[in-house]
This record gives sequence, C-alpha cells and structure tokens, in this order.
Amino acid sequence: MNTTIIDNREEKISLLKRALTKFPRERLGHLPTPLEPLDRLTEELGGPRIWIKRDDCTGLSTGGNKTRKLEFLMADARKKGADTIITQGATQSNHARQTAAASAKLGMECHILLEDRTGSNDAQYNFNGNVLLDQLHGAIISKRPGDSDMNAEMEMLSENLEKDGKKTYIIPGGGSNRVGALGYVNCALELTEQATQLDLKIDALIHATGSTGTQAGLVAGLNAVDSDIYLLGIGVRAPQTQQEEMVFNLARQTMDYLGMGIEVPRESVRANCNYVGPGYGLPTDGMTEAVKMLARLEGLLFDPVYSGKGLDGLIDLVRKGHFNGMSNIVFLHTGGSAALFGYPEIFNLPGYQGEP
Ligand SMILES: *Cc1c(COP(=O)(O)O)cnc(C)c1O
Repeated sequence: MNTTIIDNREEKISLLKRALTKFPRERLGHLPTPLEPLDRLTEELGGPRIWIKRDDCTGLSTGGNKTRKLEFLMADARKKGADTIITQGATQSNHARQTAAASAKLGMECHILLEDRTGSNDAQYNFNGNVLLDQLHGAIISKRPGDSDMNAEMEMLSENLEKDGKKTYIIPGGGSNRVGALGYVNCALELTEQATQLDLKIDALIHATGSTGTQAGLVAGLNAVDSDIYLLGIGVRAPQTQQEEMVFNLARQTMDYLGMGIEVPRESVRANCNYVGPGYGLPTDGMTEAVKMLARLEGLLFDPVYSGKGLDGLIDLVRKGHFNGMSNIVFLHTGGSAALFGYPEIFNLPGYQGEP
C-alpha cells in the first residue's frame, strides 16, 4: 500500500473516532475482543487462513454481540433518565439475556417479552439456556404467541409501567437501531486497528446476520474508514433481498447519525441467506455439523440459531472456493453458546461409554 493511502486511512480513522465520541457510552464489554487464527480449521478446509474475532468474549453473562450495542443503548437510556428497560426477542434470545445482564449491572429494572417463534413445547428450550439466565439476572419475562406485533406489545407494556411511575426505555429486538449499531461501527474501528497492529491484511469478514444492527454498523464503520474488506452476512431468517434491504436502510441511518457526510454504497451490503434451512431458530444438518466440527477442532462453542448457521455458511463457501484468491478471512463470532442448553437433543451425542 502506498503512503498516501495509509495517511488517508489514518485520517479517516481519527475522524471516525471523533464522530463516535459524540455519543454517550457505558463501558460494559471486555474490549478489544481477541482476534485469533483458527489453524486446525484452516488446515481442515485448505482454503485461505481463517481467523476469528472473539465477540463471544465480550464479558457480560457469557458474552455476545449485543453487549457492544448495549454500551450505546444503555447510555442513551440513562441520559434520558430511564430506570426501566423493555425489550423483546425469541424465546432463546441472546439479546434478551445480555440486556438483562446489562440492566442488572446498571441497577435498572428489566422487562422482557419473549415471542414464541418456533412453537416448541420442549422444556429445555422454554426454560433452560438464555431463559434461565434472563431470570437469574432478575429480569421479568413474559411470553407472547408467534407473529405477535412485538413493538405494539412493548408500547403497551411501557404505558402500563409508566402509569406505575416507572420511566421506561424501549430497546428494539436485537438492539438494532442506529444507536445500537454504533457498537458495531466501533467494532469496525477496533478490527481495523487490530489488523494494523498484527500487520495483517484482512480480505473478508463473515458473520451471522439477523436483526441487522451488527452488519449495518460494520458496513457504516468500514465505509467510514475506506476499508476494502469484503463483508458478508450469513442470514438466519429473512430471504436475501429483504435482508440486504434492511441492512442497507439501517446502515444509511447509522451513517447519517454519525454525521460524517459519507454515503453508503449499496454494493457494500451483501447477504447470503442459503443457510437458514426450514426457518428461524430451527436446526439444520449443516449447522449441527459445523457446531460439532468447531467444538472438536478448535475447542470453541457456537449456537444453533445464529453463529452455528453463520459457520455453516463460512465452511460451505470456503469449500466451494468462494474466497479463492484471498489470504486472510475473519469470522466474527457473535456468541450465543448459552442457547446450546436450550437445544441439547439436536446434536445426537453418544452419551457415556460402558456401564456406570
Ligand atoms: C443477535 C445475534 C446475531 C445477529 O446479529 P444482528 O445484529 O441481530 O443481525 C448473531 N449471532 C448471535 C449469537 C446473536 O445473538
């Protein structure tokens, strides 16, 4: 790279840093998260060198990507004088769990509405994993049927709590609005600086995409520093066109909110939604194989709903040569391992050997 490009990049990095400091932030996460090579997976697949960005190690209550968003969301809630947080998610929501933990840490009351998106009656799914942790953190949880208007449900709950004298703050599902997405603008900055320190040129960044705040923040942040990293979201729910449109919209809102006068090119938003399987939160063979493979090759835990499907996409695309010509690709580990305990049966494990 020639020096003009480097000087230009450094200037953009400092401009983005300055733009981010305008927003209030609560320090909740263990940041920066590690960036580590996955040598055994790389050897197994024989493609580009694969690295992992450990956002499963953000610290709060087993970690995950929502903690970065909550740094900005919880600070905004406090600035507005709120004492009560309301949010929503699927039964095994990692976002709900991290919001419950962040609320506990900041001494705020937390109400969570859980939408029954899968229709499962399984006791582990309904009471173990993230649900157990939500309650352990003192959150008040209640269920809503699948396809409820969850935003309307949160508004109703908020009105009732305000009548009781609470000052509420509503966090949308997944913490995905322009405030939460700032957490992933910050991650783009962090990763850029980490790569420089390691003298590493990152060719591609791959991660699971759902409610879109993660990808939208990364799109905004990477564009703001003029990065040429190929960013790819692996979808877990919506079809590709819809997912890309949602990411693009939030990325543009986030960029406007940063106020740097930069446009988001539509072509910097890419999603591959071929690994969803039968639907959100429903297991696939590729996901179970990928989760087992990384547990055994690298000693790492991924979840059935998000990071496991993202990993399935990563592995399959490496095998198909999608990243041919690239040297270093990074998988962003968005966390979620607490959800494993909501789905113990899907791995079909052999159990103990021999007689007890
Ligand atoms: C929420 C979540 C995602 C998706 O992030 P979005 O910002 O909602 O797109 C990915 N992985 C895990 C483990 C999550 O909990």
